[in-house]
Amino acid sequence: MINVTKAFLPPKEEFMKHVSEIFDSGILTNHGKKVQELEQKLAIYFGTLYFHYVTNGTVALQLAIECLDLPKEGEIITTPFSYVATTSSILWEKYTPVYADIKADDFTLDPEKIEELITDKTVAIMPVHVFGYNCEIENIQKIADKHNLKVIYDAAHTFGAKYKDKQLATYGDISTLSFHATKLFHTIEGGGIICKNEEFNNKIELMKRFGHTNDNHQILGINAKQDEFNAAMGLTNLNYISQIIEARKKISFLYDEMLSNLVDNRKILRPLKNKDLEYNYAYYPIVFENENILIKALNKLKELDIFPRRYFYPSLNTLPYLKTTQNCPISESISKRIICLPLYVDLEEENIEKICKAIKE
Ligand SMILES: *Cc1c(COP(=O)(O)O)cnc(C)c1O
Repeated sequence: MINVTKAFLPPKEEFMKHVSEIFDSGILTNHGKKVQELEQKLAIYFGTLYFHYVTNGTVALQLAIECLDLPKEGEIITTPFSYVATTSSILWEKYTPVYADIKADDFTLDPEKIEELITDKTVAIMPVHVFGYNCEIENIQKIADKHNLKVIYDAAHTFGAKYKDKQLATYGDISTLSFHATKLFHTIEGGGIICKNEEFNNKIELMKRFGHTNDNHQILGINAKQDEFNAAMGLTNLNYISQIIEARKKISFLYDEMLSNLVDNRKILRPLKNKDLEYNYAYYPIVFENENILIKALNKLKELDIFPRRYFYPSLNTLPYLKTTQNCPISESISKRIICLPLYVDLEEENIEKICKAIKE
């Protein structure tokens, strides 16, 4: 069986060496050695002073919203084309998600549509660098500055991607990452927060551990502390990150080659890559002409025991638990026609061929 993704597993001995050190230390959590080491290494990797390693990418988003001192109520303008956590974190924090539509060429938020939706209720903008493709960062920042709004990037897909020679996850007032097992870099479960300044950084530092240092209770916090075993997986995997990205790049290029006819004849659409983006090959999305063809392709692949994923589907503006109906025609149309093809380090060439042959048929 071939799934859309398979968690990267490092050599067991290397992970076990860390585990053995954890056993020797007797310290399992609460900002232990492994967590500290991974936090430092990731801060260097991202080129920031303000990096936090937390329990998952969803709580990272919630903490990001919490730390910005936004008005207690209001609207956050966000994208309908993402994983549900982008929207659920807004709702969980008791804000109202307002959906701007995406651009058909790279599936990121359309800055013009963002600006049209800004009212006196708007408190922030939360775009997603979806599949690792960068948003229009400068244009979004201009709009945010003009209306005095904060920008929170859900950068869950951006590990290793660079925009204008800087890590893509370092843009915005605050950016969040996910290190879930299905992601390009993982710590089994895990997440990251990158703050723009020291003020947000200090607040996250307190908030992620219940809002207190010793007996001094300063602000309302939550438990987003990561434990030593997850950090051990992160430390082990981090040694392989360039190999992981390189392997994914190779596979993506093979797909490019084998699907080039379909792309040239506009039978499938691939996202447009910005010239200033050094891509991380996090996903391999393809968009079909219509949903019927997509379903046929999925059935064909299923016969071969191959399971790509309808990703992202449905468009988040159509979630059943939203209070209002908002239309996002481009996102709704793309969502119905898009799949992500299997992409993981040890996916064999013969299987890539099988997948492409089935899609062509
Ligand atoms: C994976 C993901 C998240 C959530 O991350 P978890 O670590 O699974 O909580 C949030 N946003 C996007 C876009 C994601 O793909």
